[in-house]
Amino acid sequence: MWKTISVTTGTRVQFVDITAQVGAEVAKSGVKNGICYVFVPHTTAGVTINENADPDVVRDLTTTLARIVPEHGDYHHSEGNSDAHLKASFMGFHAAVPVIDGRLALGTWQGIYFCEFDGPRRRHVKVGVMGEKE
Ligand code: ZN
Repeated sequence: MWKTISVTTGTRVQFVDITAQVGAEVAKSGVKNGICYVFVPHTTAGVTINENADPDVVRDLTTTLARIVPEHGDYHHSEGNSDAHLKASFMGFHAAVPVIDGRLALGTWQGIYFCEFDGPRRRHVKVGVMGEKE
């Protein structure tokens, strides 16, 4: 039931629109009405849903996160990537989207973003689609 999507990021901080890949898993599942659950099994990357029409929204998200959580600060974590852990927690590690008539029922301007904060890396996202197949 759980599928894995691979995401390769190219920079330290990067929002990757994974809406199409998640939507493809919904289609493959055959579920007509239910819920799609997206889980990020990492500690320095997260997932969020936000606007995918104007790229300035993602730009504003990343620059504001960088201002709130600077890369170097009063952190104790010895790995040196505390800002990435904090930013990932701010975004969260899961998202749930209704599935209606076999499709992700996102709002008109919404997209699902994988949020990289300690790239570049090869990452994985778990996707589960639950519900009635009719
Ligand atoms: Zn760390």
